[in-house]
Amino acid sequence: MKKLIAILTLALIVCACSKTPTFEEQLEELGYSSEDITLIQSLSEEHQALFSDAYKEDLLSFVKDGLFREEKLEEYLKFDGLFEKGRMMRLVNDGILTMENAGKLSRLYQSDHFAEKNESLYLQYMNEYSDLEEMMEMVNSLRYKELYTDIRPVDMSKGDLILVNKYFSLMENYYPDDLVDVDPSLGKGQLSKKTYDAFLDLHEAAYRQGYNLRVVSAFRSYSYQDGLYNKYLKVDPKEVVDTYSARPGHSEHQTGMAIDVSLPGVSLDDFWKTDAAKWLNENCAHYGFIIRYPAEKIDITGYMEEPWHIRYLGQEVAEDVVRHGMTYDEYYAVFIDQ
Ligand SMILES: [Zn+2]
Repeated sequence: MKKLIAILTLALIVCACSKTPTFEEQLEELGYSSEDITLIQSLSEEHQALFSDAYKEDLLSFVKDGLFREEKLEEYLKFDGLFEKGRMMRLVNDGILTMENAGKLSRLYQSDHFAEKNESLYLQYMNEYSDLEEMMEMVNSLRYKELYTDIRPVDMSKGDLILVNKYFSLMENYYPDDLVDVDPSLGKGQLSKKTYDAFLDLHEAAYRQGYNLRVVSAFRSYSYQDGLYNKYLKVDPKEVVDTYSARPGHSEHQTGMAIDVSLPGVSLDDFWKTDAAKWLNENCAHYGFIIRYPAEKIDITGYMEEPWHIRYLGQEVAEDVVRHGMTYDEYYAVFIDQ
């Protein structure tokens, strides 16, 4: 009798065991599709087990992604949520994202200096600068390269927002097609029509404050700039001249959208001492201009401070440049040249 009970008990156990659902059935029960199950079963047993207690949509999304590499799964889980998923997986796959630099990388991608096209350069230069924003500014403005190297033609398709600096040059035969004469009562030279109209508004507003702004220098042709630059070369060595005069093709004055302003009887070099210079700095953006070469950005622009040199960009962009505290060199890379 005892033997019979033992056999029956054993039979019951065997029977119960055979009714235990297979892993596949368990997954089905949890809501995974047959496609999901095939994917899960392609993983190592250890990783398969991660799916056994509930429906794990997030975990599954990693496995389904084209970037998925099983050996990186633990790392994906560790950094999940810190970055956009695809970006995080890519950074993990490339061995860039680590516990040590996760915070810094997270700040990099959230910074308002971030320009997608410069991503690989940021990663390349990240450890060369202690300050992340400084590094991004150097990369965006191309200042990680020597000045006047790797020179490219100005992208004329940007219209009023073209960038002319030591890395982008205008053709020798480039002339703005809408130059108008500056009224002799306001100074001398020619400006693009939009720039002149904006200057008239700026002049009127300044005049109301008691500042009679004058156009000291406006449009300058390539050949004029060539003469000017070479004249300076007779006085100063090249590296000094480059801090205050653009090489031909690299002057914003050739665009017809840059103006050197001062007051009657005040030289450009003394303009900074005037209240008008302070007013201009604080207000010119409302009239569509920026101070193009500010004191605190000498390292970026490669020019000494020029409180008299204003560049027309239109009110919206000029105010946005000021709001971001960027030079136009950097602003162009981040917001214009997408
Ligand atoms: Zn100028």
